[in-house]
Amino acid sequence: MEGTTICENPFPGPMARLRIPTRAEVVVVGGGCMGASTAFHLARRGVDVVLVERGHIGSGATGHSGAIIRQHYETRLGIGLTRRSLLFFRRFKEETGHSCDFHETGFLSGTRAPDVPAFDALLRLLTSEGVRAERLSPDGAQQLEPQLAVSDYVALVHDPEAGYADPAVTAVGFAKAAESLGGTIRQDVDVRGLVVRGGQIAGVRLGDGGQIKTSNVVLAAGTWTRMLARAVGVRLPIHFVRGEVAILRRPVGFGRPPRIHFDFYGNTYSRPEGEKDVLVGYMDARPHRIVQQPVLREQSVSTSTIRDLTRRLARRFPSMTRAQPRGGWAGLYDVSPDSYPILDAVGPRGLFVEVGFSGHGFKLSPEVGRLMAEFVASGRRPEGLSELGAGRFREGREIKPAAPLPPRRGSRLP
Ligand SMILES: Cc1cc2nc3c(=O)[nH]c(=O)nc-3n(C[C@H](O)[C@H](O)[C@H](O)COP(=O)(O)OP(=O)(O)OC[C@H]3O[C@@H](n4cnc5c(N)ncnc54)[C@H](O)[C@@H]3O)c2cc1C
Repeated sequence: MEGTTICENPFPGPMARLRIPTRAEVVVVGGGCMGASTAFHLARRGVDVVLVERGHIGSGATGHSGAIIRQHYETRLGIGLTRRSLLFFRRFKEETGHSCDFHETGFLSGTRAPDVPAFDALLRLLTSEGVRAERLSPDGAQQLEPQLAVSDYVALVHDPEAGYADPAVTAVGFAKAAESLGGTIRQDVDVRGLVVRGGQIAGVRLGDGGQIKTSNVVLAAGTWTRMLARAVGVRLPIHFVRGEVAILRRPVGFGRPPRIHFDFYGNTYSRPEGEKDVLVGYMDARPHRIVQQPVLREQSVSTSTIRDLTRRLARRFPSMTRAQPRGGWAGLYDVSPDSYPILDAVGPRGLFVEVGFSGHGFKLSPEVGRLMAEFVASGRRPEGLSELGAGRFREGREIKPAAPLPPRRGSRLP
């Protein structure tokens, strides 16, 4: 076939491809949840797409993700993106033919007295956007979540539809679905650079010496997107922040897995991990955890961090003082100045970026992939992306919360 070289495939299995294309309508760089979702949505539109991943599918931030899917956002934009994504996660199997291992757990978060006005404003925003969020009294919340300490709360919000999925399984599901629709998935090969001719994308250069000719490239390379874009003269205001999570075995007698909980006062988020464990991480993106490189040399977490997370979680779930630490890991967040992603066409014609997910990209991946596929395939920016351009930071159009979460202390994760 023209534009195709035949090579031996070193990665047998469900994603095995014997034909390695040297041409494509679109090349997606990065096989995290974003790149895989974009490739799937492009393939679904009949676009000839090749996804290039330097490691394996889901080996970047996606594989480290807490994968919480909540609708508790402070802007109509964020709520809308997550609502449509949540609907997709719930019918992932019907849409893709694969599982994303979605668990509907419900979500709880409380407010102290001084923050009630902000809390109620946010609740109104959520319900006006169609989220089934309900206001609970502390007693009502404790009936729902008997292990939760609520004495400092005066009210809680409950979203019964929130949950979590398996991030790697999700990315692989998207990639497999893209492949069965005619897309090509190339793993273990990196994109070394972009080929630009006369201000137009002309291809990508690969680490194995090959090249793929194309006039459209989507950079969905997570923390590496900034460097790949910089090489063709595009500066993206993205910095990297180390995020850490711990896994704790619940003590015997704890009862049913607890709902997702955001503790804005204790700076933790938590969710069940399987039947017996809890995953806990920090809510904010602290400046002292900024790192200079797009890759984390040290992906393990220290004993003192695990102790600190356990202590903080135990203030909300007192019996977790008896929790057994079972490890943890660190990953990198690609953080933008307003904590919302940059989803835009930038630099040379045919170059698109999906970056700056600021610790909450997993839950957005179905809808972001759909919108970006529409943008790339049609050449017209969908209305849903109008606020997420790269120019918004210099034009003073940063995304501002319509109802700030109480109390607001910097970026919220995840
Ligand atoms: C600890 C942690 C917890 C999180 N918890 C949540 C959560 O609960 N909920 C939520 O919604 N989000 C969460 N997130 C954020 C979420 O995981 C990310 O926003 C999301 O996974 C980003 O996906 P991505 O596809 O953009 O990037 P990635 O998953 O990083 O994928 C980028 C891929 O590009 C590949 N790549 C890079 N350079 C090249 C190249 N030159 N050539 C080829 N391939 C390349 C990388 O190998 C990588 O696989 C969390 C993140 C972390 C780190």
